Amino acid sequence: MNKQKKLAIIMLGAPGSGKGTQSEYLEKNTGFQRFVMSDLIKKELTPGTELYDRVFKEGILVDDKDIFEITRKNFDGKSNIIIDGLPRTLDQAYWLYGVLMNHHYEIELVFLNVDEKKLIDRITHRYYCPKCHRGYNTLVLPSKVAGKCDDDNETLIQREDDTKEVFTERLKTFDEVKEVILDVYKGDVTEVNGDQDILKVSQDLMSKIIMRN
Ligand SMILES: [Zn+2]
Repeated sequence: MNKQKKLAIIMLGAPGSGKGTQSEYLEKNTGFQRFVMSDLIKKELTPGTELYDRVFKEGILVDDKDIFEITRKNFDGKSNIIIDGLPRTLDQAYWLYGVLMNHHYEIELVFLNVDEKKLIDRITHRYYCPKCHRGYNTLVLPSKVAGKCDDDNETLIQREDDTKEVFTERLKTFDEVKEVILDVYKGDVTEVNGDQDILKVSQDLMSKIIMRN
């Protein structure tokens, strides 16, 4: 990789596509700094901050302006970075593009493409034990007795985000915004087949990024 060049890798993938895992892998293998929007928001949502008061006392959701401010606060514009969880809206897509251009970044948007039917199957069959936190999947990794934990016989439950209703809604939201993001970043998009096993996806990701840079 050219040493003069500064690279920003933007990770784009549906919820449950393995985007987080892959960006961690990239961080380990490139030494790039990982910029995880959800972590930065969590950090900002601590008691005493203005954002905390607004969100928890007034019930106002985090909006684009908050995202911009949190990003500005945490972005030094100097290092190679992996961006995870941003952009999530059309305005964020344009805004981030401008910020990266102003800081003379080369942009690489990695789109982890997965088969959504398979994804829905995998996610909505996930259950876990509320007592020991062991995870199950009624399709590929079922418990011995249906609905009960193998270790302690506790009744298995599902995360709200994993229920068919909530998950398909999240996926729909992602699909809508995905199209506009891919359009804003066209020319800088590297597509990776996210349906392969985790290690193969990681290898693909590394070779494609290194090949292009
Ligand atoms: Zn258990």
